[in-house]
Amino acid sequence: TREEITYFGAGPASLPTTVLQNASSAILNFQNTGLGIAEHSHRSALSSDIIATTESSLRNLLSIPKDYTVIFMQGGGTTQFSAVPYNLLGYWKLKRARMDYAVTGGWSQKGSEEAKRLYGDESVNVITNSKKVFGSYGGIEEEKEWKRTEGEERVFTYYCDNETVDGVEFPGFPSSLEGGVVAADMSSNILSRRVDVSRFHLIFAGAQKNIGTTGLTIVILKSSILQTQPTPTTLRALGLPIPPIMMDYPILAKSNSLYNTLPIFDVWIAGEVMKELIAAGGLAKQEEVANRKAERLYAALGRAPGIFKIVPLEGARSRMNICARAQPVELEGVFLKGAEERGLLGLKGHRSVGGIRISNYNSIREVDVDTLVQYIDEFGQRNA
Ligand code: PMP
Repeated sequence: TREEITYFGAGPASLPTTVLQNASSAILNFQNTGLGIAEHSHRSALSSDIIATTESSLRNLLSIPKDYTVIFMQGGGTTQFSAVPYNLLGYWKLKRARMDYAVTGGWSQKGSEEAKRLYGDESVNVITNSKKVFGSYGGIEEEKEWKRTEGEERVFTYYCDNETVDGVEFPGFPSSLEGGVVAADMSSNILSRRVDVSRFHLIFAGAQKNIGTTGLTIVILKSSILQTQPTPTTLRALGLPIPPIMMDYPILAKSNSLYNTLPIFDVWIAGEVMKELIAAGGLAKQEEVANRKAERLYAALGRAPGIFKIVPLEGARSRMNICARAQPVELEGVFLKGAEERGLLGLKGHRSVGGIRISNYNSIREVDVDTLVQYIDEFGQRNA
């Protein structure tokens, strides 16, 4: 049963049981309309109300400034890898323009590769590449070493706030980027701490980790971006690609995220998750809880240094995805099997890197962390 397991998977992640209980009745008969929530028209008053409520909760949680627009989209984080360069094109004042990418793990690497695929290798400047600096992903190079594009040629700087596969998280906003056009992927740590949205021109996040169900992607952008888009004619004349309509932020914003059929069920789930977060004390509280849970997990791994090797370097360790290797490596299978027997699921590292990964998203309760900490301690002692 659900009570017998805890799912530490990296995404889709588990959702609060209370939200799912409400969802199970909402999908059959929403607010006594006789019709399930996923069956209602996305253009009904009821759906408009859901969109408005979810947006207002998000604005409340992140203290989103008034001059920022929220767009609900589909297509996941990966769609944003293309949408970000397409939409920040308005900032291209020169023909020779460059997009700066900080590559600190697999997801920012994918983002940078998509920008290259769309605009050519010479358009992308990788300002830091952790793999080159450290031999493998697991650290963040000091900002003063970053090789940024100087002057007007730089269109924007992109980074991934939390690298889900590699367990690397920026401890805070990279201060050297202050004042520039900054886009950030917050797919796996959004709503886990306070963020000063005004420092960013764009933040995006797929919902399936800390927000809700797969199928919804949230984009928060400085509204001025919407006014700077070149027309298709201009783009064609410059030989630049034209954003597909479903990635065109101005068009989506103008239609209040309803250019086409938006999955209202997913928007509603996100709203319910946010409502619970607000009731529990908002992001200041969530940050405190997330930090405490992560510290306890790292401390547990640290108590058995002969068995567990934490992958990322101190100072770059994610509070959301805690990555470790067991040694000898054969112990990893034993660890995962023992965990499964205790109902502790989803602890296997990403297929590209292996190892152990504990995803410590908002829905993981402190008692769940206690259970896992106890298992880690037992495992460490047994194999010492
Ligand atoms: N960015 C990050 C940080 C992610 O963790 C993921 C998915 N795990 C993605 C982007 C890609 O998201 P999606 O699968 O929703 O396209």
